[in-house]
Order: sequence, then structure tokens, then C-alpha cells
Amino acid sequence: MWGFALTEYKIAAIPGDGIGTEVVSAGVEVMNALAERENSFVFHVDHFNWGGEYYKQHGLMMPEDGRDQIKDHNAILFGSAGHPDIPDHITLWGLRLAICQPFDQYANVRPTRVLPGITSPLRSVNNGELDWVIVRENSEGEYAGVGGRAHQGSPLETATDVSIFTRSGVERIMRFAFKLARSRPRKLLTVVTKSNAQRHAMVMWDEIAEGVAKEFSDVTWDKMLVDAMTMRMVTNPKSIDTIVATNLHADILSDLAAALAGSLGIAPTANLNPEREFPSMFEPIHGSAFDITGKGIANPIGTFWSSVMLLEHLGEQAAATRLMSAIERVTADPQFHTPDLGGNARTDEVTQAVIDAIRGTNI
Ligand code: ATP
Repeated sequence: MWGFALTEYKIAAIPGDGIGTEVVSAGVEVMNALAERENSFVFHVDHFNWGGEYYKQHGLMMPEDGRDQIKDHNAILFGSAGHPDIPDHITLWGLRLAICQPFDQYANVRPTRVLPGITSPLRSVNNGELDWVIVRENSEGEYAGVGGRAHQGSPLETATDVSIFTRSGVERIMRFAFKLARSRPRKLLTVVTKSNAQRHAMVMWDEIAEGVAKEFSDVTWDKMLVDAMTMRMVTNPKSIDTIVATNLHADILSDLAAALAGSLGIAPTANLNPEREFPSMFEPIHGSAFDITGKGIANPIGTFWSSVMLLEHLGEQAAATRLMSAIERVTADPQFHTPDLGGNARTDEVTQAVIDAIRGTNI
């Protein structure tokens, strides 16, 4: 009898605050059930209690050496960070951006699809007809953190937020997006800017897009201004496949995309360091949702789909495919829709249904 060694993956789970804790614990349950079913790898999950509550006790969203504690993990599963008593810019910069930026997770990938059983608010869209992936530049731009305030509180007060774009930063995200577009069946990319009004950096984006496009002659691409893009997403969704945009523009477009796909509770995201010098981070795109925290009704699908992306990143394609089909089997059944999708299901019921689908006991 031959014995096979199981591949071991170290996962850092950072549930954060609000429904982050509920959906990450559901995600870990599902990932462990999947590992059991696959029987070729195992997860060692370390939990880190960083976030708003940690801040209230320690004055920091994560410890000074927090990044050292997670830098050798294979991946990070993140929930959401925020606290009703703490300003959003402190929670964002103190945890999520404090991990993404030093770990150079410069490619933020956000797939959008209308899953089986889910109804898009767009009347013209049936299942399978909206299949986008948004690539968000995740390291610079409007989130570079450059700026300041002077004369605070006086009528002379001045405040600046300066967007920083570097040629190397734009080139690498553009190349990433073209490669991703090439890997998808339609080989179609839309480069989104605002180069009419923002006449320096956004014009550089357009020029860099032209240059990088020459390396990808098999990819069809076009350019759009971000305002026009919001209209196209609503009026002509089938004309879109892969999108690349700046940190801020893509952030806004992906909330719109999530809503058009049925609910913010479904949408996943991956913060990738494509060169794998640091761990990448996977999270649902929704926030802490304090209005529903503790009620047991948070939709965990966004976290499960983020786990699919985590598995793909680890190279566990078969397990990723199994999990995605389990998710789709469950969304297809309205009895497993949480209230954000118009149903009555609870987080633990959806979680159990996905686990059952993984185990094959409900087919
Ligand atoms: P943040 O400022 O951290 O982005 P937020 O509370 O302003 O957080 P979200 O948490 O992203 O915004 O969500 C907005 C609303 O969408 C919530 O109030 C909630 O009702 C709903 N929502 C978001 N995520 C989910 C989910 N997973 N399940 C159910 N409803 C959700």
C-alpha cells in the first residue's frame, strides 16, 4: 500500500469586524470540508483577531509586527474591518491597506457573474450572459496616501489628496489585465480612464495601454471614460468582458457590478501579488454590514467564491472547480437564498448546503 503525503497550506484568517467574523468562519468550515473531500491537501488555519475591536484595546488595527506574523503563510482569508465608533479611513489604512500595499498585492481581481438561481436587476440579462472580471490597480493612484491638510478648521483650510501613477505601476497592471483577458474565451479588454478631465496621469494610462496592447495582438481592446462605462455596464452589459481601471474607478465600478449581479453579498475579490514574493489576500467585496451583524443572515457566498480564487492561486484547480460547482448548485435553489437575495435562509444553512454539495450528499 502506497502512502501519499498531503500538501500542507498555512492560511492566515483575519475575520475583522461585523459580518466579517461570520462569513470567514463559514469560509473556513467550507474549506476544511473541501480539503477532507479532496484528501490531497490540508489547511492549517491561524486566526488573527485584528480589526476595530483590537484597535479599541490597543490603539492599532493590527500589531506592529503583524505583517511578519503572516508573511510566510500561503494565503490570507480576510473578512472586513470597520467599527461604528472608528472613522473608516483609520480602519481601512490601518489594516486592509496596511497589508495590501507592503505585500505589493497590486492586482485586485473582481469577477462578476450572475450565478444560477440569482436574478439580476437588469431585465436584459439572463444567467451566463453577464460574465465580467474587473482588474483594479491596487497599489497606487488615488490610494497612494499622498496629501495633507493645512489650517484645519479655519476658513483658509486646504486639503489635498494627490493621485500618484508610475509608469512601472501602470505597465504591470496593464500587462496583467491583457494576460487575463487573453486567458478568457472572448479575449476582450476595456481600459477605463478619465483622460478627458485628468489630463496627465490618465493620458499616460491611455498611452501605456496602446504600448502594451502591441504585445497582445490576439486581444481585442477598447477605451472608455469611467462615466460612460457606468452607462455601458447597465445598457450594454453583454459587450463587456475584462475591465482594467485605477484603484478608485475600479472600486466604484465593482460595487455597481456586484449590484448588477444580484447582491453585494455574492461578490468575491483577490488581492494578488502575482510574483508571489508575498502572500495574496482573498476577501468578499462587501464591508462589515453592522445593520445585519449578529443576526446570522449574512450571505457567505462572497467568501466562498473568494475561497475558490484562493484555491486557484494555490494551484488547486480541481478543488476550486468542485467548490464553485457546489456554490452554483446551492444558489440555484431559492430555499438557500439569504434575505439580501430575497430569501429566508440563514448563514449556517447556506454553509451546510455548500458542505453537503461538496460531500455529494445532496445530489
Ligand atoms: P463598509 O463601509 O465597511 O464598506 P458598509 O456597511 O458601509 O461597510 P457594506 O457592508 O459593504 O457597506 O454593505 C452595504 C449593505 O449591503 C449592508 O448594509 C448590508 O445590508 C448589505 N450587505 C453587504 N454584505 C452583505 C452580505 N454578505 N450579506 C447580506 N447583506 C449584505
